[in-house]
Amino acid sequence: FIFQDTAFDSITRFATTSFFATGSGEDFCLSRNQSVLYRKPSPHKPSSYLVSKLRSYEELHKRCGPHTDSYKRSIKQLKSGQIDHNSSDCRYVVWVGLAGLGNRMLSITSAFLYALLTERVLLINQEYDMAGLFCEPFPNSSWILPEDFPLKNKLRRFKQNYDHSYGKMLKDNEINYSMKDQSYLYLYLSHDCDRHDQLFFCDQDQALLSKVPWLIMKSNVYFLPPLFLMSSFDRELNRLFPDKETVFHHLGRYLFHPSDRVWGLITQYYHDHLANAEKRIGIQIRIFHTKTSPFGYVMDQILACIRKEKLLPEIDTEKSIAFPSKNQTSKVVLVTSLFRGYFEKLKKMYGEHPTMTGEVVSVYQPSHEGRQRSWWNSHNVQAWAEIYLLSLSDELVTSAWSTFGYVAQGLRGTRPLILYKIDGTIPDPPCGRGVSMEPCYHAPPTFDCKAKTNVDIATLVPHVRHCEDIRWGIKLF
Ligand code: GDP
Repeated sequence: FIFQDTAFDSITRFATTSFFATGSGEDFCLSRNQSVLYRKPSPHKPSSYLVSKLRSYEELHKRCGPHTDSYKRSIKQLKSGQIDHNSSDCRYVVWVGLAGLGNRMLSITSAFLYALLTERVLLINQEYDMAGLFCEPFPNSSWILPEDFPLKNKLRRFKQNYDHSYGKMLKDNEINYSMKDQSYLYLYLSHDCDRHDQLFFCDQDQALLSKVPWLIMKSNVYFLPPLFLMSSFDRELNRLFPDKETVFHHLGRYLFHPSDRVWGLITQYYHDHLANAEKRIGIQIRIFHTKTSPFGYVMDQILACIRKEKLLPEIDTEKSIAFPSKNQTSKVVLVTSLFRGYFEKLKKMYGEHPTMTGEVVSVYQPSHEGRQRSWWNSHNVQAWAEIYLLSLSDELVTSAWSTFGYVAQGLRGTRPLILYKIDGTIPDPPCGRGVSMEPCYHAPPTFDCKAKTNVDIATLVPHVRHCEDIRWGIKLF
């Protein structure tokens, strides 16, 4: 969600180099090999076609990535505006992000799928706030846009109406249909993009864009589902993802490996609090507006969800905790939230009273940052560690609308229980199983490129539908 006011089956599968890239140099990237010790094996197998596509992508990235001869040639052409169509073998998509970490990870994944489909090289405009969060995903190369990239200092300031914006050019009738001499274009694909920007999702526009060597893309959303509605990509996507529900799961696990610094935090917390439990239950509580989601409502909703889904044993309020029995089973609840009150209430309940089953329930919360500070590096480090910890849970409860929760559920690889949005009253039922583990795209286009009319795009193909948490959003399933 966008804050308007602020800014595979066995251990060997995970350890194997057949899906993941092998190491990349500067960071040992312990998580790439050690995640197998913490994560449940994925029940979803990537297609062999996806695996081979990733290997070819890695070759492309190595050949065209920062500081290679091809990259230098492309930069020269970008600077001069003179494109040599015969020699410019590499084309790029530069991701420029905004908003919280969940939003950014979803839009990077969308940009990566677009890069895979269009044989472009993905480069990330990394500002300080995101530095040192992830390992380099591609071997023997970097995905970080070099500091000396000619437009580097301007990227942050690119707005929707920037002169080189494809949407604006379309609006102003400035598109030259040959597009031969355009060295770069800016694509605005954020939550508030307009219908001209959204023409990006039309096949005829993709044919034009394919001629432009540098595409600079600003996005904070999971704009990937509409790519599944385009005939240009249809065949390829079916081969890559026979199971549409696993797109983020596979691409997210491929791209996002915690850096050694973040991995240290994750593994330390895991060993200190989660490792010994028989069952780990993650509850992600995202409050967008304290006024519309008062504490009491949210707490009652969480307790109602726990009861309805039998996530935790009931407590015996008549009794107080004496000593835990020896042959107890134990459940650990990992609460993540910007606020501390929900954790405190749950901890008090299970700390003061025994459960009806005799099980011991422990409740932990790694941090309570108080407010979103996505421009702080350490805040994003903490957020990434918590997203990852949630993804290690046996059962996961997420909050409606939250990309933080979407990333955790996608990396985890199973459908979450979603706490539905409070709209004046506590929803009934309070939570429900997601129809798919795919993230929701909050701001999809409403334009049917073929029919040239507005349409409900959730009705066009069988594997795209509206999200369970946002009526107008769409998701793969
Ligand atoms: P969304 O706003 O819920 O869609 O998720 P985002 O990740 O895009 O933005 C919210 C940001 O607020 C996160 O990236 C964190 O920086 C912060 N945040 C929200 N909830 C939590 C939480 O439970 N734990 C921590 N550490 N940070 C959080």
